[in-house]
Amino acid sequence: MVKLAIVVPCYNEQEVLPETTRQLTELMEKLVAVKKISADSYILYVNDGSSDSTWEIIEKYAGDNKYVQGLKLAANVGHQNALLAGLMTVKEEVDAAISIDADLQDDISVAEEMISKYEEGCDVVYGVRSARKKDTFFKRFTAESFYKLMKLMGAKSVYNHADYRLMSNRALQGLAQFKERNLFLRGIVPTIGYKSDCVYYERKERTAGESKYPVSKMLSFAFDGITSFSIKPMSYIMGIGVFLIIFAIVFAIYAFYSYATGNVVSGWTSIVLSLWFIGGLVLFSIGMVGQYIGKIYIEVKERPRYIIECRVDGSGRVR
Ligand code: UDP
Ligand code: MG
Repeated sequence: MVKLAIVVPCYNEQEVLPETTRQLTELMEKLVAVKKISADSYILYVNDGSSDSTWEIIEKYAGDNKYVQGLKLAANVGHQNALLAGLMTVKEEVDAAISIDADLQDDISVAEEMISKYEEGCDVVYGVRSARKKDTFFKRFTAESFYKLMKLMGAKSVYNHADYRLMSNRALQGLAQFKERNLFLRGIVPTIGYKSDCVYYERKERTAGESKYPVSKMLSFAFDGITSFSIKPMSYIMGIGVFLIIFAIVFAIYAFYSYATGNVVSGWTSIVLSLWFIGGLVLFSIGMVGQYIGKIYIEVKERPRYIIECRVDGSGRVR
């Protein structure tokens, strides 16, 4: 049987915790009853430096609900770091961990399907939003543009998947090898590898409390995602530089022709030619420097260069 931990980052979530705990406990009881998970599975609430009574509520539940455990961070470190703290805490203790937001906007009823996929041999199971009918047009538009932009900019990510996912013990061990500070979990997880699959659900409205992701935070999150994962923007700049230089060369033919036929203002040819050529050269150079910085960036991250899944020995045994 699978020993499961459900990891829930909480930042000022006093309004939603009672309902979330009720639903998650119900889920745990059900999964234990159908022998999907072992009875020592648990829910881990990670208090991300909340300024309200979130921690007091967690302590109380931990006292009188056998499924609830709490982890208190010393300060507010943000959703991604709080989630990582939770995952790293459970990684030695469980077979698999499911991460989910405290507001339960993600449908917990697909958790069973996630565990089934895990039992079938998947190490990562992504929860994917099949529809966003309940989100406002604005949220949907910005969120979907976000995934598209990520793709265009060369960052690996699963479309319409946020941080609702199951990770096996060994996937968590893999995650532990990523030492970067700029944490963008939904980009890192696909880079770990192993067999993965998706389960689909409809995203719900927040039951109570407010979104901790206003547009400004979302934008900076998107920017973080791109800049933590890809040096493509630099290549694009370099590409524009090359294009401008080529354009300058073609334009030179026209400019010289106009000069030769004499129907230009004096000084036009030299100014216009240097304008395009120097512009192109500057962009190309910035892009070039960017390529080096990008390489340095990749080096300092010290990401694992590979993760070994298994080895088969001479007698055909997999270990
Ligand atoms: N969260 C956190 N630390 C923060 C901000 C948010 O741990 O600094 C948690 C929050 O409690 C919730 C999750 O991250 O469990 C996602 O936040 P939210 O639901 O507000 O984001 P949205 O669903 O609106 O994108
Ligand atoms: Mg939410």
